[in-house]
Amino acid sequence: MSKILIIGAGGVGSVTAHKCAQLPEIFSEIILASRTIHKCDAIAQSIKERTGRSISTFAIDADNVSETKSFLDRIKPDIVVNLALPYQDLPLMDACLDAGIDYLDTANYEPPDEAKFEYKWQWAYKKKFLEKGIMALLGSGFDPGVTNVFCAWAQKHHFDEIHELDIIDCNAGDHGQHFATNFNPEINIREITQRGRFWDHGEWVETDPLSWSMTYDFPEKIGKKKCYLMYHEELESLVMHLKGLKRARFWMTFSEQYLTHLRVLENVGMTRIDTVEYNGTPVVPLKFLKSVLPEPASLGPLTQGRTCIGCLLKGIKDGQPKKLYVYNICSHEACYEEVGSQAISYTTGVPAMIGAKMMLEKKWHRPGVWNMEEFDPDPFMDNLNLYGLPWKAVEVD
Ligand code: NDP
Repeated sequence: MSKILIIGAGGVGSVTAHKCAQLPEIFSEIILASRTIHKCDAIAQSIKERTGRSISTFAIDADNVSETKSFLDRIKPDIVVNLALPYQDLPLMDACLDAGIDYLDTANYEPPDEAKFEYKWQWAYKKKFLEKGIMALLGSGFDPGVTNVFCAWAQKHHFDEIHELDIIDCNAGDHGQHFATNFNPEINIREITQRGRFWDHGEWVETDPLSWSMTYDFPEKIGKKKCYLMYHEELESLVMHLKGLKRARFWMTFSEQYLTHLRVLENVGMTRIDTVEYNGTPVVPLKFLKSVLPEPASLGPLTQGRTCIGCLLKGIKDGQPKKLYVYNICSHEACYEEVGSQAISYTTGVPAMIGAKMMLEKKWHRPGVWNMEEFDPDPFMDNLNLYGLPWKAVEVD
């Protein structure tokens, strides 16, 4: 029996709230707080209709640490699940420290004026969380999140050493829009327009944005798709925790239409994250762009097709070379049917619920600040199968 506070009423927050509501024996009380209260109320309404459960909703500005701390003192949750934006990670970790409450998120802290995708700011909280006797679980989405758990599970059960890792994220779905992002547009575009980076024999190698590509043949009739090399935050912790790792890369599929729009927006300066003056008003072009793009939460009824996200691992077991592909396939339409959201929000929101469940059940509970692969992967892998993200592991040639 426990009280969960979810912060952020976007695409991901909605899925997590719906999934928690399906498990009253774990999440006996659910509170959803976000900047815009009517979005919380709309989610509460949908949960009531789908599950019969009532959840409480509040307006909160998570950037305001003292306001958030007072809120935490008042409602006393057992855990804070941060599904707002990466900018809110540090203010929310500060508020959790003050109030002595466990914390979970799905994306690393980002300074608003620089796209960095690094864990260093959050890892710096390790000692403070340890001393306070509370826990922070970082990156409990799909990638980061499930991909880290897939790696930990492969390391535990299938390899003596993993030498090569390719995380491959395919969205073979279509929302029918000229240009829309499947999760928060600002964070998505910051991530994709940054320089690429991969791990090679103990060093980071940089590439021009989206300049490297490969074609991968995805399973279960998804077929061949072009994937682009990007930097992705889980690589930073995985290269520290996978024994014998020599190379680690992250790939994502994009349609030609998406890339053409992105190129044009970049060329005309609309993806800039610095401030420009417009008629005497300071404006960040990317924030303005976000305000005219479709909200990720609105894509649920429009999106068709499937996602396929997985880890391709090469290494050795008992002296023999081994290659394993661990993956999940998720249908946009099935997610919409179940919780009213598309699969990108679903594949992030479900692992956030499972991470919180692991912590509340004390299956994963250690004071300090941790990444996903630092815990026993088995109970998390079992829960993926139980709660909507079944996975497969196949040996490949
Ligand atoms: P959305 O933009 O749909 O939702 C973000 C929500 O956070 C909105 O409801 C927004 O409020 C709220 N919010 C923003 N600022 C504040 C604030 N200061 N105080 C309170 N609430 C605030 O994003 P998504 O749901 O798509 O993404 C949520 C998170 O999940 C992001 O951090 C994203 O990077 C991460 N993510 C992780 C993935 C993974 O696999 N690990 C994959 C996809 C996403 P308002 O409505 O008022 O703007």
